[in-house]
Amino acid sequence: MKVREYDVVVVGAGIAGLTAALYATRQGLKTLVVGADLGGQLLLVSEIQNFPGFKSIRGFELIRRVEEQARSYGAEIIFDEVVEVRREKDFFVIRGRSGEYRGLAVILACGKAPKELGIPGERELRGRGVSYCVVCDAPLFKGRVVALISWGYHGVENAATLSNYAKKVYWIFPSEKPYEDEELVASVLSKGNIELIPNSTPLAIKGEKRVETLVVRNKEKGEIRELKVDGVFVEVGYEAKTGFLRGVVKLNEKGEVIVDREGRTSTPGIFAAGDVTDVPYKQAVIAAGMGAMAALSAYSYVMKLKGRRVRIVSDWKHLKPKEGGLSLRL
Ligand SMILES: Cc1cc2nc3c(=O)[nH]c(=O)nc-3n(C[C@H](O)[C@H](O)[C@H](O)COP(=O)(O)OP(=O)(O)OC[C@H]3O[C@@H](n4cnc5c(N)ncnc54)[C@H](O)[C@@H]3O)c2cc1C
Repeated sequence: MKVREYDVVVVGAGIAGLTAALYATRQGLKTLVVGADLGGQLLLVSEIQNFPGFKSIRGFELIRRVEEQARSYGAEIIFDEVVEVRREKDFFVIRGRSGEYRGLAVILACGKAPKELGIPGERELRGRGVSYCVVCDAPLFKGRVVALISWGYHGVENAATLSNYAKKVYWIFPSEKPYEDEELVASVLSKGNIELIPNSTPLAIKGEKRVETLVVRNKEKGEIRELKVDGVFVEVGYEAKTGFLRGVVKLNEKGEVIVDREGRTSTPGIFAAGDVTDVPYKQAVIAAGMGAMAALSAYSYVMKLKGRRVRIVSDWKHLKPKEGGLSLRL
């Protein structure tokens, strides 16, 4: 197997990873992005109204533009899931399911992914009736019977969306009420096709080729019900899937990568950006900004390894102003 060598390998092709690649390539670094998909969470966002420069833009469209921009400067993008990062002399070896890549520096931008329930049948029937995204998949269940496991304000939004498409929605949650605003809940229930299943936890998802039933247990009464459903929607939050980074960089109790204010992790040469980090604000513009910062820090690190001491404060100082344009004041 041919091992490819880069100055920087970015893990994750969401907004943080692609912005990091844009900045790294503009600094002249040979950059590879290894992503399990292209776009990350932004693919789930139908409309963003708080990304500077756009009053409203679809998540997909925003990511498409950043990808195009990063590629135009020479960033390479490969689809692969990284399962291991280890050091070998000056290089880091980034092992994916389909190949190995080597980078002088690594930028971790692996974001967050939907939390799983961890019950039998869930993994096996993922994509075959089990979904983690109501916004994306609700239309596929038009006229069908579905179960929703979700609560809080987000749960209400999910129930409302599903009830617009499905014939019937079983709404499962672990407490007495799905959300404290009873008026809001009542307005969603007024559609008449939602059945509340309170104080309950899912036990198993069953089905041969596709989802056929969901088994739930009422915690108060101990009663078990097997609901006949075509789909199960799991929307119980997001988490950093950083198991493969344990022992590589310091993680906090939530599994997030701990970074300093320059995007450096506890391991020299490994940087991190976006939702995967312990920075509390999980927003697209913040992830993009952190991606830029991690790339500039990685640039300083790589230059030092190559025997050139530089410390940059912006990524445009090396660029010549366009003919007829304004000259940059440094
Ligand atoms: C429904 C929804 C609505 C939102 N609305 C807004 C909004 O209106 N405004 C706003 O600012 N933010 C919003 N956000 C948050 C915003 O989308 C995130 O903060 C941002 O997308 C995080 O970007 P990221 O690149 O850090 O991570 P992600 O988008 O999670 O991308 C990480 C990428 O890394 C990949 N990856 C993970 N592990 C590996 C691995 N081992 N190997 C290879 N690749 C890997 C993933 O597949 C993914 O592509 C919303 C999020 C959701 C889910």
